[in-house]
Amino acid sequence: MSAIPVTIAPRVPQPAARAAGALGDPLVDTHGRVHRDLRVSLTDRCSLRCTYCMPEQGNEWLAKTSILTLDEIERIARVAAADGITTFRLTGGEPLLRADIVEVVRRLAAITGPSGEPVDIAMTTNGIRLGEVLPDLVDAGLRRLNISIDTLNRERFRDLTRRDRLDDVLDGIAAAAASGLRPLKLNAVAMRDVNDDELVDLVEFAISHGAQMRFIEQMPLDAGHTWDRSRMVTQDEILRTLSARWTLEPVPGRAGAPAARWTLDGGPHTVGVIASVTAPFCGDCDRLRLTADGQLRNCLFSSTEYDLLPILRADGGAPGDEGIDGMLRSCVAGKLPGHAINDPAFLQPARGMNAIGG
Ligand code: SAM
Ligand code: SF4
Repeated sequence: MSAIPVTIAPRVPQPAARAAGALGDPLVDTHGRVHRDLRVSLTDRCSLRCTYCMPEQGNEWLAKTSILTLDEIERIARVAAADGITTFRLTGGEPLLRADIVEVVRRLAAITGPSGEPVDIAMTTNGIRLGEVLPDLVDAGLRRLNISIDTLNRERFRDLTRRDRLDDVLDGIAAAAASGLRPLKLNAVAMRDVNDDELVDLVEFAISHGAQMRFIEQMPLDAGHTWDRSRMVTQDEILRTLSARWTLEPVPGRAGAPAARWTLDGGPHTVGVIASVTAPFCGDCDRLRLTADGQLRNCLFSSTEYDLLPILRADGGAPGDEGIDGMLRSCVAGKLPGHAINDPAFLQPARGMNAIGG
């Protein structure tokens, strides 16, 4: 794969702008988008080294002292829920590597929104260790799971993730299928000459596990900066390939979801495509991100971060809730109408995907 040079953008200091409102008001940006979804990255560490996400060696890990504690995550989540966040999606890195993962789920699941409604707790995982911990996660309040699996071929899996752990991932998917958690979603990044001949097999695999398959267009977020637009597999190509096997009909009513969906032969099964590059869905984006080291981000592709650590660690007490709310509002106020990855001047964020939280 030929690499294109990408300049790493420096971390930009926090801007002073602040979205309208105060603690307890919804998080509405200057384009009218109401934010309801917070992606919470629990660690930048991972049990795999997927080529599109992490380097094989020499990754610069986040400082251990800057990783948010359980109490800090809970505190941020309480303020976010008061401001109208209804879904917390736990991610990473690999969220199941976090030793206190069950307690994180339990604490967040106990949070309620402004009218006392429970929040929704979801997780994106590579599935390794899932079989072991899933009963405890469900007991703690986990409601939904997305599991990543790019190939069903053991050698390919080893090449792609640089680890020989396909069996562990399959065990995790089997455990998820046997659990009551639905909808269950399986994610694959579609890659040319890597897994683009497996798209139909992956959909059939998902169906046989009571899951929905979703294909993701590869995005310029790999730590190695090797993304090459001319080689990426597009949504159109994915749909063309699947159309040779099924009749696809678009499912209406996407409602801000990243995946556009199609029924297979009239349903009930569906397939999803997350086409961030060729069909961006920024106009309906309701997501914010919290990195494992306490940085709020308003977009995967942004180079601006809003640092919660000084607020969390300087005051040591309750008055900081207004500070957390203020930082959430600044982050929302700074959100641009869309990402700029199709702009020739686009600068890839300094963090790799594992340190942002997908
Ligand atoms: N480790 C977990 C996993 O793999 O599901 C959670 C974190 S991972 C960063 C979240 C999602 O981001 C995965 O579905 C992964 O395939 C996707 N992802 C990572 N790098 C990507 C890239 N460069 N382009 C598109 N998707 C990517
Ligand atoms: Fe790990 Fe997930 Fe990144 Fe793969 S995509 S290296 S499993 S964080």
